[in-house]
Amino acid sequence: MRVVADLDKCQGHGLCRMSAPDVFDLTVDEGQVIVKFDGEIPAELEDAAALGVESCPEIALSIVE
Ligand code: SF4
Repeated sequence: MRVVADLDKCQGHGLCRMSAPDVFDLTVDEGQVIVKFDGEIPAELEDAAALGVESCPEIALSIVE
């Protein structure tokens, strides 16, 4: 499983990071999401990643199987 962020949609709310801080971070100016994993999300973090994706009010995050 991978997570892809659409930075055109991201508004920097940070709800994803609140839900899953091991998977998501924000840029230094807190303006945009950073997905900490370029490739596969580690299996033990998949549930957290999915929670973070669901928490995004802008629908900026997508799961790619
Ligand atoms: S919750 Fe969505 S809009 Fe907010 S920082 Fe995360 S990806 Fe961006």
